[in-house]
Amino acid sequence: MSDTSTDDGRPGDGTRAVRAGLPEPVKHEPTLPGPVFAAHFHLPGEVTGPYSYGRDDNPTWTLLERAVSELEAPGQDDAETLVFASGMAAVSSVLFSQLRAGDTVVLPSDGYQALPLVRAQLEAYGIEVRTAPTAGDAQLDALDGAKLLWLETPSNPGLDVCDIRRLAEAAHARGALVAVDNTLATPLGQRPLELGADFSVASGTKQLTGHGDVLLGYVVGRDPEAMSAVRRWRKIVGAISGPMEAWLAHRSIATLQLRVDRQDASALTVARALRERPEVTGLRYPGLPDDPAHPVAAQQMRRYGSVVSFTLATRARAERFLAALRLVEDATSFGGVRSTAERRGRWGGDPVPEGFIRLSVGAEDPQDLVADLLRALDESAA
Ligand SMILES: *Cc1c(COP(=O)(O)O)cnc(C)c1O
Repeated sequence: MSDTSTDDGRPGDGTRAVRAGLPEPVKHEPTLPGPVFAAHFHLPGEVTGPYSYGRDDNPTWTLLERAVSELEAPGQDDAETLVFASGMAAVSSVLFSQLRAGDTVVLPSDGYQALPLVRAQLEAYGIEVRTAPTAGDAQLDALDGAKLLWLETPSNPGLDVCDIRRLAEAAHARGALVAVDNTLATPLGQRPLELGADFSVASGTKQLTGHGDVLLGYVVGRDPEAMSAVRRWRKIVGAISGPMEAWLAHRSIATLQLRVDRQDASALTVARALRERPEVTGLRYPGLPDDPAHPVAAQQMRRYGSVVSFTLATRARAERFLAALRLVEDATSFGGVRSTAERRGRWGGDPVPEGFIRLSVGAEDPQDLVADLLRALDESAA
């Protein structure tokens, strides 16, 4: 799983993560320059780039954007990254900058819980929205006449997987652009641009930054025209990251490979332990060899993520289980170094059973986590 070596002569993932986006060394300067707090920059005379006003650009973003490009699209010099205030700012920037009234977009029916809200807004702007499930590449059947195909793989929270390359080829044959929400996989788990996508979009709030203390989003793309529309959207909506958040994110990326390898290996261990339990049903983890998502995941993913999902019989049982956990906090979000779990049905919106639990495996010792989870299952039996 921890495929940190490469067969193409490029440095491994750990090396790339610790060095991603660093400027050339300058004597007496820090390795990673600190956040640049500036609403405006000295700008005598003609307006020339790169730094003029803080809503357009910031040197701290520039370094972070380079880091994300190096991880999402290694060796692809034409790839460009734009960072945003949150994952939703990034998601919206692609959808609303690429689509016009009369266009059709295909979304997953089982994607991130804010997508139904986005759908309502797209429809209010006269854009036709079709949806289909992630599993079985079902979005293929909705592509005719579409302008944009939106994939989320693995999907959150159901952990289904679709074949990015196959869907991208079908979409491109019909003249549609393809965006992939890469939040759950992280760029060390999956590189959508190499699989044919036009945009890789993610929430950096989750495992990319991994400490539960920053909201961030990004868009990576290769087409200069499409990316300049995304950049224009960021400028007019102003959904920009603060320099402190951007710097914290960049600092966190240095440990991405360590965190992802540890957490993803523990997620597999936890999934194996949980599925031995008779009260656990519907257990999903794309890294389990017999998971329905595994064959496609194994083709296109390099790591399988830190999220495991499963169902307990009732809402009450799930609530007792969550309350009995000591090492796993009852909280939303995922990908952080501290394990969290939640009963997803408490939000409404996700098509999941009342006892459905999304568990995010952190960087604790796996044997401690397994012991805590099994003990909480015992104590919640009642
Ligand atoms: C969390 C999440 C988002 C939204 O990100 P924010 O940073 O919370 O705005 C989008 N897509 C997926 C798959 C997510 O998990």
